Amino acid sequence: VSAADGPLPVLGCDVRVPLVTGGEVPYAALDYAASAPALQRVWDDVAAYAPYYGSVHRGAGHLSQLSTDLFETSRADVARFLGCRPGDQVVFTRSTTDSLNLLAAVLPADCRVFVFETEHHAALLPWRGAQVTCLDAPCSPEHAVEILERALADRAPYGPALVCVTGASNVTGELWPVRELAAAAHAHGARIVLDAAQLAPHHPVDIAELDVDWAAFSGHKLYAPFGAGVLAGRADWLRDAEPYLAGGGASRAVTRRPDGALDVEWHTTAARHEAGSPNVIGAYALASACRALTEAGFEALVAREQRLLAAVRAGLAEVPEVGVLSLFGADAPRVGVLSFVVEGWDSAEFAAALSAEYGIGVRDGLFCAHPLVRTLLGGDPGECGGGTAAVRVSFGAGTPDEHIERFLRAVRELAPRQGRGELRGQPPTACS
Ligand code: PMP
Repeated sequence: VSAADGPLPVLGCDVRVPLVTGGEVPYAALDYAASAPALQRVWDDVAAYAPYYGSVHRGAGHLSQLSTDLFETSRADVARFLGCRPGDQVVFTRSTTDSLNLLAAVLPADCRVFVFETEHHAALLPWRGAQVTCLDAPCSPEHAVEILERALADRAPYGPALVCVTGASNVTGELWPVRELAAAAHAHGARIVLDAAQLAPHHPVDIAELDVDWAAFSGHKLYAPFGAGVLAGRADWLRDAEPYLAGGGASRAVTRRPDGALDVEWHTTAARHEAGSPNVIGAYALASACRALTEAGFEALVAREQRLLAAVRAGLAEVPEVGVLSLFGADAPRVGVLSFVVEGWDSAEFAAALSAEYGIGVRDGLFCAHPLVRTLLGGDPGECGGGTAAVRVSFGAGTPDEHIERFLRAVRELAPRQGRGELRGQPPTACS
């Protein structure tokens, strides 16, 4: 099925949910930014292979050989999907969080890390052993580049440095100027890692063309829900560091010396950081999703998603109680991810009403990006976990038009019905 024909077939379309108002409706999954439904194609690929899995890199039998082959061809498929350069490594991890923690574990000594306060916690927090500079939220993509350049120019002495930046915000959906930030980083001798968790499902990501040193993303946001992620990019820091996990698979030779100590020779390939029996089904599903998106064609996927996004923006703009969160301005380019507050509504209650009365699944809260949401809401987004901050709607390749239409009808009907809970929803403040 090509994206031009409509939504790609995904699982979960047959789920029906009861409404508090009576009756039931098909579930409308509008929380793709948290986890996207599996593509039917991924499920079919996994179902065809799953009965035949064996141990990867560990057995001489036919099924071990098959699994080893599928694991390594999956790696090659992901490298192609990401536009890796010759010599780049693709390490299979559990998730984006795991990938960025892996990179944090292989930083050279005395590495400085630069990260915007607007990042998801997975990109903000892993750099614990390093000296971290947390940069202000920018007002525009150009401002982001200026802020980074200023911070890098101020840094001294010139040791190793890493910039970590998202490709698309998990809160506002806004696109970040990755190529320009990469150029700024490299001009100052720093490296850059792209958090592509929200970008890769919506947009082509080409490591070579963007000129980023690494990219990380998660399978479960890319229609492949089997607990796999990727860190891809430059081999040197990965090869020079101690293994992220020590154990079988990461070591080439282990010898006991006469004095009782152990000598270990670690692999220098991606296997160095993949100790233990690998998640071959996760890797295979992730590669299947990469192939499916490539075959569907990003041009058509983006065009369709942008049509849905335009409808969401126009529909929300007609509801006076709704304020859309944005750093770069209401018209800034974004993927199919958008957060908003509704005047007079507690965001958690609004999300609960969307679910109970319309069968729509969205997310509310601070989206694991507390500093960003605080900045967007002027410093008082409510309690983390209390779910009061904002409502996020997100969609993608499997979203039918009907889900968007139902969502907009629901917002139009619910928004004027204020005062159900505490009056926590406030219009967002402009970024100054
Ligand atoms: N970065 C961004 C921008 C995200 O949206 C997320 C997930 N919400 C992550 C990182 C972390 O991904 P995971 O939970 O799969 O590790």
